[in-house]
Amino acid sequence: MIFKSSPIEQISFDNHTFFLKRDDLLHPDFSGNKSRKFHYFLENDFPDIKKIVSYGSAQSNAMYSLSILAKMRGWEFEYFVEHIAEYLKENPHGNYKGALDNGMKVIVGADSISTQSEDVLSIEEGGRQKEAEYGIKILAHEIIDWQRENNIKELNIFLPSGTGTTALFLQKNILKRQPKGIVPMVYTCACVGDSTYLKKQFLELEEDEKYHPRILSLEKKHHFGKLYRDNYEIWLKLQQQTGVVFDLLYDPLGWRTLLAHLEVCKKPTLYIHQGGVLGNESMLPRYERKYKM
Ligand SMILES: *Cc1c(COP(=O)(O)O)cnc(C)c1O
Repeated sequence: MIFKSSPIEQISFDNHTFFLKRDDLLHPDFSGNKSRKFHYFLENDFPDIKKIVSYGSAQSNAMYSLSILAKMRGWEFEYFVEHIAEYLKENPHGNYKGALDNGMKVIVGADSISTQSEDVLSIEEGGRQKEAEYGIKILAHEIIDWQRENNIKELNIFLPSGTGTTALFLQKNILKRQPKGIVPMVYTCACVGDSTYLKKQFLELEEDEKYHPRILSLEKKHHFGKLYRDNYEIWLKLQQQTGVVFDLLYDPLGWRTLLAHLEVCKKPTLYIHQGGVLGNESMLPRYERKYKM
């Protein structure tokens, strides 16, 4: 196995105790949950593949992790983006710079890929594909084993979603591993789009709704990548109280949503830190310009 099981710590936040699964520490280069999602492509043989092709935003965690995967496997990496901000082009930083340093070739002006060739591995935006289940199943087993070793009878799990791939395959593989008794429930929130969009994503990956995570939400609408004072404040507070650096795109909404549903936190609750901290290099200066006193 490429990755060692990630540690689980106990933290205290806003007078509540949580367990924290440190998937951000899985690998020094891969971004947390993307190492789970791309695990399959690291461990299996692909003798014909010479190149990875993918698409999405120029700041994405998946893009950076794919550049690592390509480098480790000696493949080329072509990435399609619709648009790159002038500022980023002139001052590469964060995931974008990291991926360029790893040899990524960027193609601007396209937002999807159509290459069909035997030597090309096509990866969906954000790693939303069935192969992701391979690594997320390992995550599910790590959690169940830890729960058993520590005699934790009831457990809720929370993680914020983008495509929902991680949350869905997690709930599914927990249920498959432990079909009887008190089964840990996976709770999530939609950071990209709304709960209706997330539900649709779940259905595309799995028709059987018994495997779907529970979606929690806040009353106010949230736009992905937009700067919110509440997000910045909770991110700072998390760091002050727990000493852990979280990501600025998903985790602030995740924590705000979880704390707005204290009925979930009544049971022992495990929050999954899914990495993405390199992306803070672009988000943090924007937040500081806007809100820092
Ligand atoms: C990609 C990512 C997510 C979202 O994962 P999905 O499987 O798309 O729901 C959440 N947090 C971080 C830090 C990520 O990089």
